[in-house]
Amino acid sequence: TAATCCLALLLASCGKSAPPAKQAQSPGGQPKVGVILPDTTSSVRWERFDRPWLEKFLHGVGVDARIVNAENDPHRFVSLADEFIAEGVEVLVLTAVDSESAAAVERKAHAAGIPTINYDRLTLGGNADYYVSFDGVAVGTLQAEGLGKCLGAGRATVIELEGAKTDNNSSLFYEGQQRVLKPKYDAGQYKLLGNQWIEGWDNDLAGHVFADLLAANGGKVDGVVAANDGFAGEVIEVLAAKGLAGKVAVTGQDATVEGLRAILRGDQCMTVHKSVRAEAEATAGLVSALAGGGTANADTLVTQFIHDPRTDREIKALLLPPVAITKDNIGLVVEDDSVRLSQLCTEDN
Ligand code: BGC
Repeated sequence: TAATCCLALLLASCGKSAPPAKQAQSPGGQPKVGVILPDTTSSVRWERFDRPWLEKFLHGVGVDARIVNAENDPHRFVSLADEFIAEGVEVLVLTAVDSESAAAVERKAHAAGIPTINYDRLTLGGNADYYVSFDGVAVGTLQAEGLGKCLGAGRATVIELEGAKTDNNSSLFYEGQQRVLKPKYDAGQYKLLGNQWIEGWDNDLAGHVFADLLAANGGKVDGVVAANDGFAGEVIEVLAAKGLAGKVAVTGQDATVEGLRAILRGDQCMTVHKSVRAEAEATAGLVSALAGGGTANADTLVTQFIHDPRTDREIKALLLPPVAITKDNIGLVVEDDSVRLSQLCTEDN
């Protein structure tokens, strides 16, 4: 692929000065790399998209990667990381369950001379060497703009369901949403009926919270900011039980098969596609550079710096652009190899 080729060229041109690979090597002589994904419940993306793409691209750059899942448990996250550190992996790729446990892991890894990459979620107060993700504020802006298009120009009531407070991304999504929504609330065009942050990005909880907020408002709402497709699915279920599915504009994120099908049925207004393929490929590029010769090569892949307010540190980052998906451009997700057309085109849509 283009990024890997480009990286190979880069490594070849400075291969002589690059220090030889050190630390633990697999029997095949490949550098070992540890990856910790956050959970299996908040979004289908982690096991369905991230794991296979990371496997493919990490294998492609010739590292021996082991991918594990913290099951939304900070203690499990730390013990999995401890195992990787004890094994002497050359690079640790982490998606935090919460910033405190991930920051503790990053400090240990740092002390052991193991570089860490924050994958998708920035660890606040940590000391990761790199951060690969999407522009989270842009994700939120796309959601709120998409909602606006579905609601049209008139007045509307809105419920906001935000992700876990412990995930820095949730705040970024919220920030982007408010850039669009706040002026409309202030102008009286939209009325906010309720805002809830959903602990652990728990889909079931989001459904219950939404049902309660809906009931508290006489069973009426015009638009729902659902932070991801998991939440959107629960919201649509609650709405469907009241005969309201398709009558309320619901946002989403992750371009899951379920979300895309809901869009095709007319029950979901939009979703945000974040190409996990591109995210995994970029991460593999960084991993390969780090395993092959240290930070000089990896630094050439960095596109910007992201500020961590807790440490006042600038983190070397590689941020990708998210894309809003509606009925009109669903094909983009298929072209990106994220879902197959046959998964989308079923009898009910
Ligand atoms: C990710 C989203 C995901 C959410 C829940 C966020 O950090 O960026 O893509 O839906 O976590 O897992």
